[in-house]
Amino acid sequence: MNLLTTPRNDMCYCPGCSHGMVLERLAAAIGATGRRPEQVCLVSDIGCIGTADRYFECHTFHGLHGRSITYAEGIKRVRPEMTVVVLIGDGGCGIGTAHLVHAARRRAGIKVIVCNNFNFGMTGGQHSPTTPPAGHTSTTPDGAADYPFDICETVRVNGADFVARGSALDPSIGTLIGAALNAPGFALIDVWELCTAYYVPSNKLTPPRLVELSQRLNMPFGVLFDRTCGPKSLRAAEAAPAATPSHLPHDQAPPAESQAATADVVLSWPERTEICVAGSAGQHIRSAAGTIGKLAVAGGLFAAQQDDFPITVRRGHSLSNLIIATTPIEYAGLDRPGLVVLLSRDGLERLGGLAELPADCVVVAASELALPPAPARVLRFDAEPLARAVGRASVALSALAFGLVEKEWIDPAALRGAAHRWAGGEYKDADIRAVDAGTALSRGAVT
Ligand code: SF4
Ligand SMILES: [Mg+2]
Repeated sequence: MNLLTTPRNDMCYCPGCSHGMVLERLAAAIGATGRRPEQVCLVSDIGCIGTADRYFECHTFHGLHGRSITYAEGIKRVRPEMTVVVLIGDGGCGIGTAHLVHAARRRAGIKVIVCNNFNFGMTGGQHSPTTPPAGHTSTTPDGAADYPFDICETVRVNGADFVARGSALDPSIGTLIGAALNAPGFALIDVWELCTAYYVPSNKLTPPRLVELSQRLNMPFGVLFDRTCGPKSLRAAEAAPAATPSHLPHDQAPPAESQAATADVVLSWPERTEICVAGSAGQHIRSAAGTIGKLAVAGGLFAAQQDDFPITVRRGHSLSNLIIATTPIEYAGLDRPGLVVLLSRDGLERLGGLAELPADCVVVAASELALPPAPARVLRFDAEPLARAVGRASVALSALAFGLVEKEWIDPAALRGAAHRWAGGEYKDADIRAVDAGTALSRGAVT
């Protein structure tokens, strides 16, 4: 199965950039393993290669510069059966060196593909930790002075299980990527690439010169270490029993007293429900979704939350997509929202209107909000009296509780019971009040 959704020429990379070639090889190598999209998670770093996840049809995760290794290791620990692949550049390896070293040391079962083009491409061709001696970059116009970071040797001496290096221009790179994917334990492949926008023109780098460079630096191509050829050592991550409950890492499992308390609060829920809470910064949108998600998890359900807000977090829209399901959530995007809670024009604009909502969707909207035509059923609530009753910061949670009950996804008594039993933290009392008020709204205080 080909997980790549976009032909190389339609990708965002500069003409001749090696990134597209590596992605094609990676997709082919994953396809050869027979793994399905839901069995693969691609974790991307920052930089040009950090855009790669948009071209793949599988689980993806995109995070901060140099931190992709940590996200990947976390995902692998929770879902050890999943193939977790990191796409990181040479810049990311420099920024996240400690993560790389310790993931190798722990033999985390992740597969790291380093797209190494010897410079920071996305930001204008600055030198990176792998820039070769005398390499010309925008920050080393007279040539780099330092010896480059040997990524392969570093992870090898720190416990990696499989280490290889190769050229993106050599067709055998696909075989090396495949071997890395199939290797048990921590695998890394250092793929030397051409950045045709910056490093290539400044250094007259060509595919044959990549090979010469490898010889000159004594950084050979090929498989450099394969633990399966020597004494085997089982990785803790693969040998460890599944976390309890199976979808949670140990440190996120409900405390023992909460599990015991589930005996008298039963959350009966449809198989999969998709919710969007949309408003503005400061309306506690994310907290509302998070509170309901945590109650669901405490009650033995599965929940996934995705937030959307501008980088300037204290202004503009705030959206939370929340999925609650009775089975593990393989895909955390919203396909068919059944409930939309709308608190402000910012949220409405970010949603792009309501016309695309399915007809069986329920929209819960503040009464002062002018709404465009919607095929969905629209329920109004008066935000001002609600704010006076529960506090302005709890209006979103009340509205969400109201919507859940109106949607008949949960019995109001069960939702109140869940809040009283499992709400916690600094805002416990406020959350309980908000849920109580929201479920009371469903009993007739609708305007
Ligand atoms: S700047 Fe360099 S690494 Fe980035 S897309 Fe262009 S050629 Fe590729
Ligand atoms: Mg780079």
